[in-house]
This record gives sequence, C-alpha cells and structure tokens, in this order.
Amino acid sequence: MVRVNAYAAPSATEPLVPTTIERRDVGATDVLIEIRYAGICHSDIHTVRGEWGPITYPQVVGHEIVGVVAEVGSEVTKHQVGDRVGVGCLVNSCRECENCRAGMEQYCLNGNVGTYASVDRDGTITQGGYSTHVVVDQDFVLRVPESIPFEKAAPLLCAGITTYSPLAHWKAGPGTRVAVVGMGGLGHMAVKIAHAMGATVTVLSQSLKKRDDGLALGADEYYATSDPDTFAALKNRFDLIVNTVSAPLDMDDYLRLLRLNGTLVIVGAPPEELPVHAFALSGQRRSFAGSGIGGIPETQEMLDFCAEHGIAPETELISADYINEAYERVLGSDVRYRFVIDIATLA
Ligand SMILES: [Zn+2]
Ligand SMILES: [Zn+2]
Repeated sequence: MVRVNAYAAPSATEPLVPTTIERRDVGATDVLIEIRYAGICHSDIHTVRGEWGPITYPQVVGHEIVGVVAEVGSEVTKHQVGDRVGVGCLVNSCRECENCRAGMEQYCLNGNVGTYASVDRDGTITQGGYSTHVVVDQDFVLRVPESIPFEKAAPLLCAGITTYSPLAHWKAGPGTRVAVVGMGGLGHMAVKIAHAMGATVTVLSQSLKKRDDGLALGADEYYATSDPDTFAALKNRFDLIVNTVSAPLDMDDYLRLLRLNGTLVIVGAPPEELPVHAFALSGQRRSFAGSGIGGIPETQEMLDFCAEHGIAPETELISADYINEAYERVLGSDVRYRFVIDIATLA
C-alpha cells in the first residue's frame, strides 16, 4: 500500500478537505498512474452529497482522469512507463457476461465497478481522481493521443464518452438533424462531436445567453426553450435529441420535436420521474431512450475521434483548494464548460 495526497469529502454535508488515502500495491496487471488533471463532473457532487444514495466516507471522487504511467505490473502489455493515459467512469467489471465480452462494460450484467464510491471485486471502496496517484487494471486504462492538449483532455473521459456513445449508436452524421438539450459540460461536448460527425446541430437551451459560444463550437442553430414559439417552430424536425439536462423537463414537448422514427435519448440523470404521453410517441413512431457512459473500446474510439477532428473540451483550470467553490459554480451553471483540477496543486 502507498499513501497519496487527495481531496476528500468527510461527510455528505461538509466541504471537501485535503487528506491522504491508500492506494493498493501494483498487481501483475495493474498500472500506477501519476495523475496530472482531473475534471469535475456533476455526478461527483451528487455522489459526495449522498443524493444518489448513502456512501462510505471519507470519499474521493473524480472520474475524468488523465496522467502519466509511473509503474506497470509484471504482466502489463498494453501500457508503458511514461505513456499519457486516461481513466473514466469504470475501473472494473465481471469481464465474462455477454455485455462485457462485447466491450460494453458499462452495461455489465454482474455490475460494473465505478471509479469512485463503488465496491471493487477485492471488497475495497474505490476512490477517484482528486488525488495524485491511482492504481487501475490495464484493461480499464485508455490511451490519450498526443494531439489532445493534456490539461483539456480529462473531461473527455466522462462528458465526452457520455455524449459520443448515443451520437454514434443512433448514427448522427451527414443528413441527420441532431438537437442537444442543455449547453453545459455534457451539452457543449455533444455539440462539438455531433458537428464533427457531420450532423446539422441545434442547441435547445433555456436562454440565448450562451448562443455565441454554441455557434462557435459548431451548432448551426440555437433556440431558447423559455420562448414558447420554439416548440411550435421546431415541431417534427429532429432525427435525434440528446437531453443532457439533469432537471425535470416536459418530455412530451421535446418528443414532439422529433420527426418520423426519431429518438429522444436521456444522458442527464434527473432524480425525478419523467412522465411521457403515449400519443407523443405513437404519433410519429418516436422512441424515448437512455444511454449510459460508454465501454472501454468505445471510449478509446472517442479519444481517437477527438484527436483526429481536433476536438477538446472548453475548460477552466483550477487549483485543488478551489474545488468547493467550483462545486457551487457547477450547481449555478456558472462554468464554461468544465472545471479541471491541476493535480500539481495537490502534490
Ligand atoms: Zn461524470
Ligand atoms: Zn460483465
């Protein structure tokens, strides 16, 4: 075991504080990563505050991690000391079920192991990326292409893959019309990726406040959902709507914006139920769907796609002692568009 610096939540109601945690010894198939940058995801905040269920404290969160390989186990073949690597939302799964065998570890039928606040297969509670080091099995470590600026790469590991996966699955591309609901951490990545895939991209945001940003990031159109004319003007328009908002919206209003055979996919996670009226679906043979992060092969595919297309998240680099303030700003939608912690400030 090795003790490393970290920023942890001592309880659901207290601010995060600097501390030290233990990382396991590097096993035969493990990689020790010296973390350089970690993104702040909305899920981190829900988790430490116990909003997604009770957790064990102290808890270190962070599942948008990039760093450099510092040591490898004796049987590691996929990564070498000095490699630029990333870790996303998953650090383990059963590896045997049909979904794992198909490279969709996020849908592991025996339960995947999240990067933080999950019980790993050795019985320990996983601790995330707000830390100087992490030990991860080589199969859950991604390669981060050199052309992606390192200080911007971390948010690809959650916000990037969470939006890439549904866009790829529902075949966003030339000739398709994609709407992105919400212009936050996930939404701004959905805009960039859908645009790079060749789709016509429309942002549906509460107001026009971030309109200039949206158009600059690749959106073709930008509408305010607070304007009731928007829903009339865009009726039967889209092939795919990606909803990144984690607050309850009227799903029927959005379903009616889909054309024949269109799909509304949920990637945000509102704790409330989202009621849907049958006629909003059957009227144009529409689908209401959900999508969760991405598997390891698809996450690598997304990183390579972003490198090829010169895509990186818009980020604001912060020091570790700013995390609690950053949380308040995330909750107030006051970030353009992802906070990234400079882990050098934790060393
Ligand atoms: Zn996340
Ligand atoms: Zn499995």
